Amino acid sequence: MSLPLKNGNLFREHGYIDGAWVGADSGATLPVTNPASGETLGSIPNMGLEETRRAIAAAEAAWADWRGRTARERAGVLRKWYDLMMANQEDLAVLLTAEQGKPLAEARGEIAYAASFLEWFGEEAKRIYGDTIPGHMKDKRILVLKEPVGVVAAITPWNFPAAMITRKVGPALAAGCPIVLKPATQTPYSALALAVLAEEAGVPKGVFSVVTGNARAIGGEMTSNPSVRKVTFTGSTEVGKLLMEQCARTVKKTSMELGGNAPFIVFDDADLDAAVAGALASKYRNTGQTCVCANRLLVQDGVYDAFAEKLTAAVAKLRVGDGLKGETDQGPLIDENAVKKIEEHLADALEKGAKLVTGGNRHALGGTFFEPTILTNVTSAMKVAREETFGPLAPLFRFKTEAEAIAMANDTEFGLASYFYAQNMSRISRVMEGLEYGIVGVNTGIISTEVAPFGGIKESGTGREGSKYGIEDYLEIKYVCLSV
Ligand code: ADP
Repeated sequence: MSLPLKNGNLFREHGYIDGAWVGADSGATLPVTNPASGETLGSIPNMGLEETRRAIAAAEAAWADWRGRTARERAGVLRKWYDLMMANQEDLAVLLTAEQGKPLAEARGEIAYAASFLEWFGEEAKRIYGDTIPGHMKDKRILVLKEPVGVVAAITPWNFPAAMITRKVGPALAAGCPIVLKPATQTPYSALALAVLAEEAGVPKGVFSVVTGNARAIGGEMTSNPSVRKVTFTGSTEVGKLLMEQCARTVKKTSMELGGNAPFIVFDDADLDAAVAGALASKYRNTGQTCVCANRLLVQDGVYDAFAEKLTAAVAKLRVGDGLKGETDQGPLIDENAVKKIEEHLADALEKGAKLVTGGNRHALGGTFFEPTILTNVTSAMKVAREETFGPLAPLFRFKTEAEAIAMANDTEFGLASYFYAQNMSRISRVMEGLEYGIVGVNTGIISTEVAPFGGIKESGTGREGSKYGIEDYLEIKYVCLSV
């Protein structure tokens, strides 16, 4: 591997179980490639059920000590881990871009964002307050205690290889829970680098383990092992549903951050330049591969043509390229399947009458690079209206009235992020209340922060990550009826 890392120690090709760096029992490995170049970066152990079982047993064994520590002690470890992430921000960003493909500037941003969850939840650890409730009888006192749920298993995706981990590990550790992680097979090195820093920060062995390899086998054990009390997942709705079914058999708690079909609505009274900037950030960030990326751009009749023109001019300035080679705005797609999905959505839309305004082809750079694309004359009969494209394709739908826009926006089984641009305050309050979504961005295309509750309704999932609400997902309520 020839990555320019200052701290070569961060690059690990082993799993991390019970404080030890280990290979698969079978010795088998899986290759990891750089999506920008197709070059092999290295390998990871192809682990399965047995290794996962050991990681869970180690977590169970480490639980009593970890939960028994004061909140201040746990916060101190998380703070140190945060500091180490920031001290190694550049190396972590390089690793992230190498395995994931996003522009280096975005990767640096993700590392800071990821680290912020460790800092935030370390601080929240000190504020896990319970309640006292006036008793219902003279001799009764009622106490409500908040306690850690226990061993947590986490499964994370490749689109945010660092941040999707710390949003789970931060609150789990803060609450007093040990956690076993299976990172996405495409992007394991960010996860393993985090484990290097966790160890250095003083996270005790067994409290945080990383198991890499066979998703079905690892996921199967995580969802059936009785020691696991909670499964937290970010990924596709399809896999999320499967994991929920598997978890039902042992009644595990679950937090599911699944797919979206985000509407991005531009009303006649919007500041069009601001709307274009917001659409650009929301649609093309991470090459369109985020679950909160605008999937459908709904534009009011009176500004439709002007918005399309301005967006096209802005998209023409996007620099596509390898994130490790100079300044870029858009990297490659994660793999060939991702490119095929865009092509399928594009072909379907064009066949049904959409008009291609810009892009529409694989990029001249080859591999999995794809041109930033805009379609107009898009209708609800097309696939882009129903399914998450997860790529740099912006379909522009036309609407006439506010009521029509809200109905179109809500016409989906998903309910994660939504956005709209408008100036009129009465409209703003009607629309923000009318959107059936867990997140609404008003006059902004960027909504993620560790201080706010991120999560979806409907088939976009359950639970919230970030903010004071995020830690509740890792806590159980215990009611004590005290007779004195
Ligand atoms: P994406 O479309 O983002 O790749 P997936 O839901 O397929 O979404 O993947 C998200 C995470 O879920 C990854 O870590 C992947 O390895 C894991 N995963 C995929 N299939 C399964 C499964 N059957 N059981 C457990 N984990 C799975």
